[in-house]
Amino acid sequence: MTAQRLSLLSSAFLFASFLNAQSTPYGSGDVPQLYETLLQYIKQIPIFDDHGHPGFPDDPDVDAMASPPGTLPLRIRADNPELIAASKALFGYPYSDFSPAHARWLVERKAQLKREQGNRYFDHILDKLNIETAIANRVAMPGYLDRKRFLWAFFADSFLFPFDNTNIRKRNIDEQVYMPLQEKLLRRELQQAGLQTLPASLDGYLKFITKVLELDRANGGIAIKFEAAYFRSLHFGDPPQAEAAAAYERYHGGGVPAPAEYTAFQDFIFRYLVRGAGRLHLAVHIHTAVGIGDFFSLHNGNVLNLENVLRDPRYDSVTFVLLHGGLPYDRQAIWLAARKNVYIDSSLTDLYLYPSEFKNTLKYWLSIYPEKVSFGSDAFPFSDVLGAEEAYWLSVKSSREALAAALAELVSEHAFSREQALKIAHGYLHDNAAKLYGDFD
Ligand SMILES: [Zn+2]
Repeated sequence: MTAQRLSLLSSAFLFASFLNAQSTPYGSGDVPQLYETLLQYIKQIPIFDDHGHPGFPDDPDVDAMASPPGTLPLRIRADNPELIAASKALFGYPYSDFSPAHARWLVERKAQLKREQGNRYFDHILDKLNIETAIANRVAMPGYLDRKRFLWAFFADSFLFPFDNTNIRKRNIDEQVYMPLQEKLLRRELQQAGLQTLPASLDGYLKFITKVLELDRANGGIAIKFEAAYFRSLHFGDPPQAEAAAAYERYHGGGVPAPAEYTAFQDFIFRYLVRGAGRLHLAVHIHTAVGIGDFFSLHNGNVLNLENVLRDPRYDSVTFVLLHGGLPYDRQAIWLAARKNVYIDSSLTDLYLYPSEFKNTLKYWLSIYPEKVSFGSDAFPFSDVLGAEEAYWLSVKSSREALAAALAELVSEHAFSREQALKIAHGYLHDNAAKLYGDFD
């Protein structure tokens, strides 16, 4: 799509525009036509994807966590027929089911393309979907992702868990899956910093954290990511350093800390990481939605737990991005974006909800702080057969449709002019995120 065609589309659309100063609760009967016109326009806008986990299914660095046994929401189960449409659109999949024999065709087709395209394989997927840039939230970046197209957000939770995690593991089977992975990542980071064991004092531990942040920043990292909601409350207290130092002194060599002692230590480290990210011009990404696993605590993961940190003027120079828009507290989450340094992204929401419902979320958000909301896919490999590729497709399609539907209603209700609607579409799909991360250059 050329810039010329994009501008032709928009001028035809704007020609019919008029601004009625009075918004009305009922549309003007033109929603379906507005939807179709807007959708055609929206498909041409290059996308900036704020959050995803691109990679091949056999790549362990795709995420810092693994899936515990649990009940997946209906739409992201492997038998969702929309995923057949995704495989057809991306790979010319000739079948209408994923029987083992048919699925093998898809696995072999992807392997063939991987051989032919090498490190350009995922660039081709982005090209097909008109994604210009995508943030890859991964443990490490592999050689097969093009660093010009994929920016890196690295994980920071492991620094919160340097002590004996027996008590956390004992809680439920989810933590039995998660904790060993956090411990493994911390060992990897110690190695990265040239250390064999934990430093002897909290001062040494803080220096180690800073060193890893600096190394990852130098290696192209643009954000740190917390998935702390899977392990603890998102409410972070503000204990003095002496309290954290006492806990470190006592437990870094062994022994199981009492829950309150461990939590206070983590609160201190979290804030240290947030300050470090601000200083190094790294955005702070935080998982703020329901998560996988049947033991995920909605209460602990509620985005409102972060309010004391997000509205703290000491962190004015830190850019926070609330990943997944707080679902199911998405209506509350948008109000936190009042702060100039707080943004939200819609990743995961667009995969969990069908466009008819996601449309309502976007309509609400874009009516309040449209300049603070960004598209995100949360693309990840579903299985050995269905990959991040199909997830990108589903997320992009859902978001474009929900966006067109939300804006069609708002224009029809005379809440927005057509011109405003086009500007907001660009902002959500591309410009808001491009500006946010561009400011870090
Ligand atoms: Zn994610």
